[in-house]
Amino acid sequence: MFISGDEMLVIDHSDIKTNNKKRIIKLLSMERELTKLDISRKLDISIPTVTTIVGELMEEGLVEEAGMANSTGGRKPMIIRFLPDSRYSIGIDLGRDYIRAVLTNLDSKILKDKTCELNVISETEVLSVIKRLIEEVIAEENVKDKLLGIGLSLPGTVNEEDLKLEVATNFRLRNISFKELYSHFNLPIYLENEANAGALAESKLGIAKDLSNLIYISITEGIGGGIFINNYMYKGKDRRAGEIGHMCIAKDGRQCNCGRRGCWETYASNRALIKSYNEKSGSMIKHVDEILKRYKAEDKIAVEVVDEYLDNLAEGIQSLLFIFNPDYIIIGGEISKHSDIFSEKLSKIILRNNEFYSEGDVHILFSRLGEDSNILGASLIPILDSYGFTNINIK
Ligand SMILES: [Zn+2]
Repeated sequence: MFISGDEMLVIDHSDIKTNNKKRIIKLLSMERELTKLDISRKLDISIPTVTTIVGELMEEGLVEEAGMANSTGGRKPMIIRFLPDSRYSIGIDLGRDYIRAVLTNLDSKILKDKTCELNVISETEVLSVIKRLIEEVIAEENVKDKLLGIGLSLPGTVNEEDLKLEVATNFRLRNISFKELYSHFNLPIYLENEANAGALAESKLGIAKDLSNLIYISITEGIGGGIFINNYMYKGKDRRAGEIGHMCIAKDGRQCNCGRRGCWETYASNRALIKSYNEKSGSMIKHVDEILKRYKAEDKIAVEVVDEYLDNLAEGIQSLLFIFNPDYIIIGGEISKHSDIFSEKLSKIILRNNEFYSEGDVHILFSRLGEDSNILGASLIPILDSYGFTNINIK
């Protein structure tokens, strides 16, 4: 899918009506309560058309009448109220050793959150756990009739039309088909690469809301990139764009799972950081949080390893700046929780010996959606596809 926010091509009258309907829902989702006259004035749509569309929306349960507004002379007008819990969406996040499922409403508020840890990752295991989690969410919240669809955030190259995860080098998974979910749940299924899903969430809900040019760097087991140019998510000819984790930063460097050497993610992913620390300290730490805690406590090896890690992270970011010159670069993933300790240092390294950029030119932000960004992006896709809007009030 080529996601373009809420713009659409108007071709004939039914398209105009659909477009007006989407504009009215979007406006109501932002303003929450409006009279028909307010809607008509704000969107420049005639009162009879607004009345027809609002009637349809009421029948569909998306809005309700909420009492009378003060009169400006004449009859008191009825207030129309948006109902964020009138529809729901399900987001799935496939991680290296877990599958997470969330239920969100039209405000992208997480209403149900379930995680299942995985020991073995195989096609059958992945599909059966996803099915079980979704079934549990649907049964516990009794939302079957109000679901718009299921969005999946996946760690690799995704074919949205064929509903396939084609390649996931860090998971040793290939050609997993998710078509079965469609027949099982009889709901629209949407697949998205995890970095694209994260970029979508940041651009619609997060700190980069309404920015037209941004590069989202998803740092997990590997590194992926979501590229938004002039409000369009750029995916490339075969949807393979954004594999920024496999940019070479050291010729003949560390061995990568993709078969090449010196890829950025072998130096700047979570796995790279954990591996360097464990090798130097002889520890068996499994989580980046622990290393960053030790870094804060000025543990000598942690400081050495994290400083080296930041140098490597900066190396890739510099290349991205040179290529894209974006409004913002957003760093997502677990390390974004610890930005307080290294954000300044990282900016300094990026600007060191950099003739093209100076302070103030480079905006590097850390995701505030944190670990939720990929999964929120996934659950947004069914909402965007149905109504073309996303609400801004999250959490
Ligand atoms: Zn690689």
